[in-house]
Amino acid sequence: MATASDKHRTKFLLDEKDIPAKWYNIMADFKTPPAPVLHPGTGQPIGPQDLAPLFPMELIKQEVSQERWIAIPDGVRDVLRLWRPSPLYRARRLEKALGTPAHIYYKYEGVSPAGSHKPNTAIAQAYYNKKEGVTRLATETGAGQWGSALAMACQMFGLQCKVYMVKVSYQQKPYRRIMMETWGAQVVPSPSPDTQAGKKILAQDPNSPGSLGIAISEAVEDAATRDDTKYSLGSVLNHVLMHQTVVGLEAKKQLEKADDEADVLVGCVGGGSNFAGFVFPFAADKLAGRKKKLRIIAVEPSACPSLTKGRYVYDFGDTVGLTPLVKMHTLGHSFVPAPLHAGGLRYHGMAPLVCKLFDEGVIEATAVPQVATFKAAVQFARTEGIIPAPEAAHAIRVVIDEAERCKQEGKRRTIAFNLSGHGHFDLGAYDAFLTGKLQDYEYPAAKIEEALRQLPKVQA
Ligand SMILES: *Cc1c(COP(=O)(O)O)cnc(C)c1O
Repeated sequence: MATASDKHRTKFLLDEKDIPAKWYNIMADFKTPPAPVLHPGTGQPIGPQDLAPLFPMELIKQEVSQERWIAIPDGVRDVLRLWRPSPLYRARRLEKALGTPAHIYYKYEGVSPAGSHKPNTAIAQAYYNKKEGVTRLATETGAGQWGSALAMACQMFGLQCKVYMVKVSYQQKPYRRIMMETWGAQVVPSPSPDTQAGKKILAQDPNSPGSLGIAISEAVEDAATRDDTKYSLGSVLNHVLMHQTVVGLEAKKQLEKADDEADVLVGCVGGGSNFAGFVFPFAADKLAGRKKKLRIIAVEPSACPSLTKGRYVYDFGDTVGLTPLVKMHTLGHSFVPAPLHAGGLRYHGMAPLVCKLFDEGVIEATAVPQVATFKAAVQFARTEGIIPAPEAAHAIRVVIDEAERCKQEGKRRTIAFNLSGHGHFDLGAYDAFLTGKLQDYEYPAAKIEEALRQLPKVQA
């Protein structure tokens, strides 16, 4: 219970012993089972043996587990201790600037060494791979957020790490690459001559700028063709979302310390992992019939609106069409989003567990344009100090809009959001905004329609 002096704090901190001992698995609380993942060739549900070349068995088990709580190994908690528990802040200065009666809180995941929430799962994934005798991980990265998280995690457990980095980012954004190399990873621009997939693309177009889809193909091929190597993914999958629930479990405790209760929860969604990690422990109450009035809002960019404009059907997880088929809100795997500055939100699909909650009306979704998002980001930086990652700024846009609404309606609501990372490697985007060069992209209706026509045909 909070004491009077606790409530007036700006930071709500927990002790290291309060790092959650268990992850929360939302699958235990669904009334109906999630749609099965299908083999792209046979159309039949896939089994553990289909995934075994790519992932260690413990992660495959977690992917389909129905257990509500899964113990976090001490070896994982020992590393999480380096930055967890992360702080929950009351945004008193932003509240004041807005003149809103709302209470605004943010959980700050930018305190991790890589600067985002992504190490929460990278550490767990590296741990289980190490435990099962894997010595090397392969992955892809776009702008480098996931690659840097995994590079650090691999170093912590003595694993080698190979990162296929989309070539344009490799050339234009060297700092994340340098972080990865500092943590000991081998980083190559993708397409690379190191894989058959890369060689094929390079033969067609030696100057290919690369894409996330190509980089995924390279990393998966790397893992599938080497006995010592497995593949690692930074979002979308059930086990990744579950590893992120440490965020929401801590936030729940911290709100109790603040003697407050959330009316509105907000998070940005790319593949859905930081949003899920933050909100699933609260969504558990709604699924159990409690806290019926709690609103949970997922925010996506209007240029890549998979929840708000996509179709809830089976589609490939990657751009090329190699992965199993998953039921999700998708813009079509061939959809190529505009070159948004929030690189982490440029995904054609969405985590199936997030989609299921959306489909069942447990959560809402909204889309916001880029310029308004940066306006919110700068307002936040100028009041609270922290320069937010452009991805997280999407959540801030909606938080500010909700707080303004509280003011108009004279309602004191409590709004909490996940500040998924800092924007120190995104200053080029801030520069574009500050010099008036940042542009909005129109809702790409024609491109989405075209991509939706190329959805795989699945009877389900
Ligand atoms: C990668 C990333 C995202 C988007 O990924 P999710 O899986 O949707 O969380 C959001 N914010 C930051 C800071 C990221 O690095």
